[in-house]
Amino acid sequence: MRNIDLRSDTVTRPTSAMLEYMFQAVVGDDVFEDDPTVKALEAKCAAMFGMEAGIFCPSGTMTNQIAIKAQTEPMSEVICDQTAHIYQYEGGGISFISGASVYLLPGERGKITPAMVKSAIRPDNIHHPVTKLVSLENTSNKGGGAYYTSSEIAAIAAVCQDNKLALHLDGARVFNALLAAGETPQAYGQYFTSISVCLSKGLGAPVGSVLLGSHDLIKKARRIRKALGGGMRQAGFLAAAGIYALDNHVSRLAEDHQHARLLQQALANCVYVESVLPVETNIVIFTLTPQVETSAFLQKLAENNILALDFGPRQIRFVTHLDFTAEMVDQTVKTLTSMSF
Ligand SMILES: *Cc1c(COP(=O)(O)O)cnc(C)c1O
Repeated sequence: MRNIDLRSDTVTRPTSAMLEYMFQAVVGDDVFEDDPTVKALEAKCAAMFGMEAGIFCPSGTMTNQIAIKAQTEPMSEVICDQTAHIYQYEGGGISFISGASVYLLPGERGKITPAMVKSAIRPDNIHHPVTKLVSLENTSNKGGGAYYTSSEIAAIAAVCQDNKLALHLDGARVFNALLAAGETPQAYGQYFTSISVCLSKGLGAPVGSVLLGSHDLIKKARRIRKALGGGMRQAGFLAAAGIYALDNHVSRLAEDHQHARLLQQALANCVYVESVLPVETNIVIFTLTPQVETSAFLQKLAENNILALDFGPRQIRFVTHLDFTAEMVDQTVKTLTSMSF
């Protein structure tokens, strides 16, 4: 039997319809900018978000790190929440690739405020690094899938504009955020100088992310991507999966959100669970009571063919996705309800 895999929304496999679409892609050498399917994906994504241009990359880590490299310089600084993926989960890439420092803010569930950003901007004084870039994560992974509304984003964007700072969006799960907020991507182009969108998370593509920005920024990004070894040749087969995902797998994210709420409800009634973070999208983060060993909990789940992620002291993360079906929700709820320690 196939495992119920709740470790991440990256574990999805391409559907047969997606594979069929991929096989039919017309491809070329994308380093020569000759791949029509890659170009179509980049243009489609840019148009969706009201940005000028896009560049297809192998991973969200690469799109984020290229955005940071293109909008900072050594001795400058990036402002972000202390739990941000760009800082916590990208292998120290900011120092390695950009030679920039990071100003970490104590946000609420991964979300920072305009006042916090203002307070983190360095005065013009040779002792300090030069503040260059603010990065938001929407939804916030460590924040349990919490999302920003566009009015919250607009207020932060205004601070950035007043202080001539670039504003990046780590939009690994931006479509989950938009769905939960009841908003569309069109408005985002006016707020952000760069946007990273992951195709290989909830959207179910096997590989890839797109970085969006102005023509100038994306031109610079193309150089950086090459230097990082991210220039791919007949990448159109992969880009086709992204096009298919954008056309077919966005509105169905509502199911994932519903499934996450069902898991939250089940967990709220389990005596071995101390607390569950409010569920806003497709991520469920909960804390076990001190009597329960995280490893014992994960092992018992695994014996019932359910995989989850150890997410810090006594914390567990579930992420719902395309390959987590309604029957699997029922089975998971049954298992959670019947477990004891
Ligand atoms: C997954 C993720 C990324 C990118 O991860 P890759 O595995 O490199 O594609 C970036 N930001 C957040 C918040 C993520 O969850």
